[in-house]
Amino acid sequence: MTDAKPCKKPWKATVLTLYEDMFPGPLGQSLAGQGLKDGIWSLETVDIRGFASDKHRSVDDTPFGGGPGMVMRADVVDAAIGSQMAENKGFPLIYLSPRGRPLTQKRVRELVSGPGLILLSGRFEGVDERVLEARNVEEVSLGDFVLSGGEIAAMALIDACVRLLPGVMGSKDSGAEESFEKGLLEYPHYTRPREWQGHEVPEVLLSGDHGKIKAWRRAEAERITKQRRPDLMAGSVREED
Ligand code: SAH
Repeated sequence: MTDAKPCKKPWKATVLTLYEDMFPGPLGQSLAGQGLKDGIWSLETVDIRGFASDKHRSVDDTPFGGGPGMVMRADVVDAAIGSQMAENKGFPLIYLSPRGRPLTQKRVRELVSGPGLILLSGRFEGVDERVLEARNVEEVSLGDFVLSGGEIAAMALIDACVRLLPGVMGSKDSGAEESFEKGLLEYPHYTRPREWQGHEVPEVLLSGDHGKIKAWRRAEAERITKQRRPDLMAGSVREED
């Protein structure tokens, strides 16, 4: 008899990039890095340039219609994507892009519950539209600002996902209480020393009364959310829900 557990495949992130050397970068450190070493998730990078077909190995060209900058070629990007499809069947294919739907914790939870991701990191002015259409690529944005490339955005998305994988975060509960999980920003935290530069820790947190503490934290989360992100309040979840 063997006591081998059913071998679950690690959650897998595949990143198509012109800058493979940037990886794992910060993803090799701390929680994500430990999870990577422990085989809870895996990372594969694919060099888009390896799919260039001309003798100069060019991956970009000038935009039709004129204008500044360069555009990543549809044929090269398509070949890079194609090389990953068989091995990662059914994985969401995401292009990190400022035109995408802004990333939310809800989407992160959905993505981490799947087998993994294939991520396309853009450079220059972005990618020829035709390959995005032909491959039915989902576009995801980190926010309303422009980065110089998709690699940091891909790392941010992967980091948000892998910290939720079972076994990556220290305490099982630490995900559930956080900002956005209940449609609210998180309540404030305090630790020792009890008094710092004349500032005391809120009395209720020292009371040992868990009911009161919970109510105080909920009220603080609501106060902070109303003040900073009133747009989130509409979707917030009551504790009883
Ligand atoms: N010309 C584009 C910006 C290109 S920036 C535009 O105006 O929409 C170069 C690359 O950086 C993009 O292809 C994308 O992969 C990445 N990028 C830039 N800003 C981003 C953001 N807010 N979220 C995700 N990826 C982003």
